[in-house]
Amino acid sequence: MMGIADYHMHSVLSDGQNSYEEMVLASIAKGLDEIGFSDHVCLKPVEWAIRIEDIPVMTSQIIDLKFKYEGQIKIKYGIELDYFPGREDELKDLIESIPLDFVIGSVHFIGNWNFDSDQSMYGKWPNDKLYTKYFQLVQRAARSGLFDIIGHLDIIKKFRVYPETNQDLLFEDTLKIIKEHNLVVELNTGGLDHPCAEFTPGPKLLELCYKYNIPVTLSSDAHRTAQIARHFEMALEVLAQTGYKEITGFNNRTRRIIRL
Ligand SMILES: [Zn+2]
Ligand SMILES: [Zn+2]
Repeated sequence: MMGIADYHMHSVLSDGQNSYEEMVLASIAKGLDEIGFSDHVCLKPVEWAIRIEDIPVMTSQIIDLKFKYEGQIKIKYGIELDYFPGREDELKDLIESIPLDFVIGSVHFIGNWNFDSDQSMYGKWPNDKLYTKYFQLVQRAARSGLFDIIGHLDIIKKFRVYPETNQDLLFEDTLKIIKEHNLVVELNTGGLDHPCAEFTPGPKLLELCYKYNIPVTLSSDAHRTAQIARHFEMALEVLAQTGYKEITGFNNRTRRIIRL
């Protein structure tokens, strides 16, 4: 696992189970070269995100660890930020107030419905319509210019909810917008442990990402030390089969190539 970077992990400051330092030590033990923290930041008050007033604590803890473990592992400071249409100015101010290396933009809400934790509204719309609503939000997130990485691109499939008809056009439109706005997509291996039992994006969507020449980060979405770099051997195989020869890293919101 040498030389590999895991660019999506949570700590006790949001909904993870370990401290940043525990995550760092476990990452070093796994032989990772680089990690990116990405605790949840959400403008809506939810129990799974860091409280806005605690952001300075997150910043100082990560900066301390960057120096403490310099020479052993590269530590990057990111957040997983919920996208809400119409609140771009607030999101922009928030991002600019934090010394971040990268920002993952994730869609976890359709309106007020937190669809990746609350299953109660599935079936309210035909699945095709649900997919359209979700991917239109992803498109708006990409167009907003706020983010570096689109988080778990097809997380709407989490509970094995799939469109009734072929949605390739919707997927391709979304990827064109992601490419036009110079974003990276993460290959999030956490999806394999959800009911959908595949990475996000899944193999077909990842092939489309490659077709549109969209760079990728590698991410475990770890919420505890045992999940760090989960399924990365398989992910590296999938990336190689798809054609990817490199992944992306970030420094101070500037992209860097990491050869595989
Ligand atoms: Zn997420
Ligand atoms: Zn996450």
